Amino acid sequence: MRTDLAVVGAGPAGLAAALAACARGVRVTLVDAAAQPGGQYYRQPAAGLGAARPEALHHRWRTWKRLRDGLAAHAVHVLTDHHVWSAERTPDGFTVHALLGPEQDQPVEVRARAVLLATGGYEKVLPFPGWTLPGVVTAGGAQAMLKGGLAVPGRRAVVAGTGPLLLPVATGLAAAGVEVAALVESAGPGRLARHGRALAGKLPEGAGYAARLLRHRVPVLTRHTVVRAHGDDRLTGVTVASLDAEGRVRPGTERHLDCDALAVGHGMLPHTDLAESLGCRLDGLTVAIDPEQRTDVPGVWAAGEATGVGGADLALAEGHIAGCSAAAHLRGTAPGPAPAALKARAKLRRSAAALDSAYAPPAHWPEQITDDTVVCRCEEVTAGAVREALDLGAGDERTVKLLTRAGMGWCQGRMCGTAVAGLAGCPPAPGKRPFARPVPLGVLARQHPQEGPS
Ligand SMILES: Cc1cc2nc3c(=O)[nH]c(=O)nc-3n(C[C@H](O)[C@H](O)[C@H](O)COP(=O)(O)OP(=O)(O)OC[C@H]3O[C@@H](n4cnc5c(N)ncnc54)[C@H](O)[C@@H]3O)c2cc1C
Repeated sequence: MRTDLAVVGAGPAGLAAALAACARGVRVTLVDAAAQPGGQYYRQPAAGLGAARPEALHHRWRTWKRLRDGLAAHAVHVLTDHHVWSAERTPDGFTVHALLGPEQDQPVEVRARAVLLATGGYEKVLPFPGWTLPGVVTAGGAQAMLKGGLAVPGRRAVVAGTGPLLLPVATGLAAAGVEVAALVESAGPGRLARHGRALAGKLPEGAGYAARLLRHRVPVLTRHTVVRAHGDDRLTGVTVASLDAEGRVRPGTERHLDCDALAVGHGMLPHTDLAESLGCRLDGLTVAIDPEQRTDVPGVWAAGEATGVGGADLALAEGHIAGCSAAAHLRGTAPGPAPAALKARAKLRRSAAALDSAYAPPAHWPEQITDDTVVCRCEEVTAGAVREALDLGAGDERTVKLLTRAGMGWCQGRMCGTAVAGLAGCPPAPGKRPFARPVPLGVLARQHPQEGPS
């Protein structure tokens, strides 16, 4: 199929971008792997569940309704359940390759004059002894379970790690009837206070969460960490301990909390695979963009968490700016000024930077990982095996991967990359994955029949 602008990702950034471009007379195809638009923030309950009050689990429902109604009003061509595995430049623009169907084996091609990447991010989870036990889920996973499946991960939960996502997760679980035994945050309150000015705009939101935590009697343990999850065949409890100013566990402060669910997360990482396959430059771990959200590849824009983690409001502002810019490019007009979005983006980027430096995993987290802790779940590589590789001279993720297979499995190092880098004492590197999603060999073979054996 052909379109003017292919937007990949129907979260806040992609929705705002698609609507801005459509409103300016551009034909847009919005492609997303999920069953419904909304992304992580506006994740909808699965249609079959017949949720009577889907808005009960959401913030900013009015904004979501405006975005959802806008898709219909502007006749945006929405392709859900389309898993994009690659995007490439062609002589007349771009081809976005997706897979459709329950087995994700039906190839679909979207040909477009321009591409806008709004693929969001994924969670960073650092390992600790017991983290692979059933009952331990990621913080975003617990949130997705709640919003998308109307299910909770257990009856008594601990929410732990670091970052602002822990707040909606703890309050969401508590509101759904889960007894939240504690919110365990490794950052100390002083770190947030240090960024008071940049975070002033976030105060009402923060106060709202504080009030809800208080109402549900959720104990908040700041500058604490989970050092071990316990259980034989599933989680029965966790040990938490307090951290010193250097981010080391303070001996003697360990205590046990009973729980059957642990929702844990240590921040977010941007999805950059498609940008990389298109040859876009990265800035560290994020897609590099200019003030109009253009990447350095002409005809490719990026917005939202793929360009830096900053929350749904920032994603909306960036998406709008990117959509306006892409539309102007495609129609040969000057990009209309979007002063409100530009102002919002500048302010939200300042608070995102402040949150980023305020929230951080404990500096010495690798010291807590025992040798028998699995680091790479796909290939079942333990911390001991990684350390052995380091002893043999490996000094980066890639060499550890070659020696141990850590990062060679189904997730291609998305889950274990940060942990391996931490154990190796080097900064995490971009994934350099040729495909954004696993793709059946049959699909590749059908696309390149002339290259088969003669
Ligand atoms: C699991 C999880 C839960 C979260 N829950 C919350 C929350 O409750 N509250 C909160 O404030 N923040 C939450 N966040 C943070 C949230 O992601 C952002 O603040 C916000 O949604 C970012 O918007 P976005 O449009 O950049 O990305 P997203 O909302 O993540 O949207 C990206 C979209 O791109 C699609 N996509 C990605 N790659 C492909 C591909 N290859 N092919 C097809 N489609 C693709 C995804 O399916 C997704 O719909 C969560 C994050 C995660 C990872």
